[in-house]
Amino acid sequence: MNWAEAFVQGAVWPGIIVTVVFIVAIAAELLAPRRRLSAGLGWRWGNNFSLAAITWVLSHLISIAVYFTAGTWAAQNGVGLFAEHPDWFWLPLASLLLVSQFFSYVTHRLFHRYPLLWRVHQVHHSDVDLDVSTSYRHHPLEPLVFMPVVTPLILLLGIAAPAAVAYQGINIALTVFAHSNLRIPEWLERGLCKLIVTPDFHRLHHASERRYTDSNYGGIVPWFDYLFRTASHRPYAEQEDMELGLEYHRQPADSRVDRLLLAPLEAPPPAAARGTTA
Ligand SMILES: [Zn+2]
Repeated sequence: MNWAEAFVQGAVWPGIIVTVVFIVAIAAELLAPRRRLSAGLGWRWGNNFSLAAITWVLSHLISIAVYFTAGTWAAQNGVGLFAEHPDWFWLPLASLLLVSQFFSYVTHRLFHRYPLLWRVHQVHHSDVDLDVSTSYRHHPLEPLVFMPVVTPLILLLGIAAPAAVAYQGINIALTVFAHSNLRIPEWLERGLCKLIVTPDFHRLHHASERRYTDSNYGGIVPWFDYLFRTASHRPYAEQEDMELGLEYHRQPADSRVDRLLLAPLEAPPPAAARGTTA
């Protein structure tokens, strides 16, 4: 079986998992919402999913083609740490999880640190509510910035298709979970946020107050936030009233899909400029 065949076969179960998580997360956040949404659902979902479709066509397809080509080349040429063991699953999966989440954490901090990167990433942060649709709200340039980070990892590790696809399934499912407006009991939230990124943990990253926006960078695991002391918490009850989004771009028109696409051309207001703090 070549890499392409394995990818298609290996994509079935993660695809099913991702679809189930997506449907369950939307149903759960509608049935047991953590917060009352402040903006119209139809307006937000229409714009967020429109941007997602554009980002998918313009950007994700290019990224996938590059990753696919790199993975196929690595497998055919025996390149990478696990190239000699294409039948291994758990160790390559754990290695990929650890290494990619570390680089994801570092890249995310750079997005917040450098003004030009922030102009791209602010599109994700300007949503004034947080729910499943926010996890898809990324400017088309954002996945392309990750490409020079992810491609060398594929070549370095030489991960076989089943583990690579399983990782993608876990990554997408946990990213959707982290952005959901799902109410989780306090006792469970308190324990779970040490292990994976929970909705409360990630919602703080979307708070408009800068000290919280620049914390909790972990995508699906919070381990590097605890290690590098960038984790923050607020009392359980305060999550319900805290303001989300940015200190600017707060009007409904700011979330219109054409404005989101053009947002990187415009510098943030001086008071919200990046590069002024670490
Ligand atoms: Zn961010």
